[in-house]
Amino acid sequence: MTVLVFLDPAHEHGRIADAGHPQLMATDLGATRGDGVFESLLVVRGTPRKLQAHLDRLGHSAEAMKLELPDQQAWRRAITTALDEFAAVEKAAAPEIVLKLMSTRGVEGSGRPTSWVSVFLPSPTAARQREDGIDVLLLDRGYDSTIADRAPWLLLGAKTLSYAVNMAAIRHASEQGADDVIFTSSDGKVLEGPTATVLVARTRDGTRELVTPRRDSGILPGTTQGALFSAAGQAGWRLGYGPLERADLLDADGVWLVSSIRLLAPVNSIDGTAIAGSPALTAELTTLLDKIT
Ligand code: PLP
Repeated sequence: MTVLVFLDPAHEHGRIADAGHPQLMATDLGATRGDGVFESLLVVRGTPRKLQAHLDRLGHSAEAMKLELPDQQAWRRAITTALDEFAAVEKAAAPEIVLKLMSTRGVEGSGRPTSWVSVFLPSPTAARQREDGIDVLLLDRGYDSTIADRAPWLLLGAKTLSYAVNMAAIRHASEQGADDVIFTSSDGKVLEGPTATVLVARTRDGTRELVTPRRDSGILPGTTQGALFSAAGQAGWRLGYGPLERADLLDADGVWLVSSIRLLAPVNSIDGTAIAGSPALTAELTTLLDKIT
């Protein structure tokens, strides 16, 4: 069951729509060109996690592609409407719900974005991969790690609706018997997953360090990684921002793909080679993440 609420100037709190019926114009630039932005976030026991960080990132993504969005208060009102409606319709209270915020450049020629919120239950795959971990392939994204600044039109740090390449990478991994992907740059740097941030733990010589790839290497700034770094820093972890290469992943004491819905997915193998993992570290980081609101 999916609840759908459109942001609509004629409806202050959003307009509830039937997700079982067509709601988008076939000429919407989101559909015809993937021209738009989105966010996916987890709602735990009725409360959206890291909502402000997601709204801020939605705004940054829109800014990068010169898209004018409804203001944050309008998003918040529509989110409340959608969550209330979901609670009313879905009688059994679900501990976790997925919330998506979407905005496209709108119907061709209208000059007005089409924006909506949807709410639905998470797929069981995410929960299973959290528990069992994932096998990952390293795949070349084809850009070097300094391209983002030189070519802002690639929108590398923005969460755009153009995820066909990311989905193709996951399908490619799946055809090779793997679960997910870590993209690398053409100059050999570790970048990100198609839907997640890379996180590495090193716990040697008495120091405990969490490392993630450099933020200026053309990756999406992860809200989960950001929140986890704040919590881990307060808990005494050293924090580092790359650069990371393939050998750093193979030598690590733990590697995870982290994201808002799946949270921490421990990486079990890279290109078919088993890597060290630590259920204790996963449990410790999961506890830190559980405290984040
Ligand atoms: N990198 C990419 C390309 C993503 O699509 C996502 C998830 O949406 C992430 C990283 C992780 O971001 P977050 O932790 O904010 O979900």
